[in-house]
Amino acid sequence: MHRHAWLVLTVLTLLLSAPYPAAAQEGTNNRDTRSAVTVHVVQDGETVTSIAARYGLGVETLRRANALGAYDIITVGQRLIIPAADRIEAGAATATVGLGGSLDQIAARYRIPVEDLARLNRIANPAGLPAGQEVAVPAATPAGGPLVRVVDSLSLWRVALAHNISPTVLALANGVEHPALIAPGRLLSLPRDVEAPDDVMAAPLASVLLHPLPLQPGRTGGLRVETREPGTLTVTFLDSDWPVVSEGTQHRALLPVDRWTDPGVYPLTLTFTGESGTSATLTQMVSIVDGGYPREVIRLTGAAAETLANPADEAGEIAYVERTMSGFSEERHFAEGPFLLPTAGVLASGFGTERAYNSDVFDRYHTGADLGGAPIGTPIYAPADGVVVDTGLLDARGYITIIDHGWGVYTGYWHQSAIFVRPGDTVTAGQQIGTIGNTGRSTAPHLHWEMRVHGVVVDPMQWVREEMP
Ligand SMILES: [Zn+2]
Repeated sequence: MHRHAWLVLTVLTLLLSAPYPAAAQEGTNNRDTRSAVTVHVVQDGETVTSIAARYGLGVETLRRANALGAYDIITVGQRLIIPAADRIEAGAATATVGLGGSLDQIAARYRIPVEDLARLNRIANPAGLPAGQEVAVPAATPAGGPLVRVVDSLSLWRVALAHNISPTVLALANGVEHPALIAPGRLLSLPRDVEAPDDVMAAPLASVLLHPLPLQPGRTGGLRVETREPGTLTVTFLDSDWPVVSEGTQHRALLPVDRWTDPGVYPLTLTFTGESGTSATLTQMVSIVDGGYPREVIRLTGAAAETLANPADEAGEIAYVERTMSGFSEERHFAEGPFLLPTAGVLASGFGTERAYNSDVFDRYHTGADLGGAPIGTPIYAPADGVVVDTGLLDARGYITIIDHGWGVYTGYWHQSAIFVRPGDTVTAGQQIGTIGNTGRSTAPHLHWEMRVHGVVVDPMQWVREEMP
């Protein structure tokens, strides 16, 4: 008991002391989370009472936090501040609740009694935490057994097998949500007395992983579900059912988050029906946090300003792009691993920047990544395997190429000076498909690289940095 009291005392001291030393445990993060307020976006059928219950709050507490009178009506899409979750102080080490995860698991990982962790975080209802929720944890963690250095991508598995623990549990115990995310060279602490995570999954579901957590507007979530028998999985998120690709007991889905999605917590529902007729439903709230996109005001003159005044001129071109970059094929062309950068240019303007054209109304955003600083004629390469859907010349986008990578993933290449492929061509990662140009409405040679997943415009650079399932 003394040890527990000491841990709690340590944490409280850390919460109170400032500035906090920069040294952080791996797998925790020390960024300033003063602005981390949980916002609940009201869903169809919810009431103040049901939302308060979900977060373990009194109805009055929730009303007061949102300046709601006793007879005020809430509407679908309204954003409510969840006061109990507004609890992480600056400088605290934090852990993030994974999908299917729970406070119990975090408590086990940090070897602190779950009641203490709940009290520390002022969590009244530990079962109601959304995936992606940050929880303050003791910074001096996870106190471990012997340390082992990961030599290559296989050694985590070898170490886990040698100690008779699951690779997933070993990864979790070191604050990493998936064994594949442990880099060679890293030190692992062997969690001798950490139990396997409680079986929080409904029976036919064996494991659920959503990466990255929390999600962000304009970025793609990768979902991996393992079930105990083959069957049909339905994935519902952000008011849509998303395509699922199933191979036996493995199911994968891509969950693109629209750029204009309000930060908040949203329900993700998995419904599974097994071959033997068993079924299960898992619903968990998933946190979507601000994407941190900058803003810019763009002043247009001349012909460009005229186009701005007549948006209908570009409507046909936009409709063409939306039509050509949507669809779903079960065949996956892109290989395991991240996408390649399609050209040698530097990132001149990132995806998602909010833009106001000749006004102060930020009602548009940059729909791709601009790779510039390279001369006309610089090669453009396919970032992953795929099939060329179309090429052509458009007024605004100039010479273009569109590639279908399968599973609803499309990439587009605008403003080219030359096109080296034809519709129907199969391309492989690293194959040259054209050259950088300055065609269409472009003021300097650059490649505008655009990506759509299930028709939703997302940041292609995320696919260069991270591996999708
Ligand atoms: Zn651009």
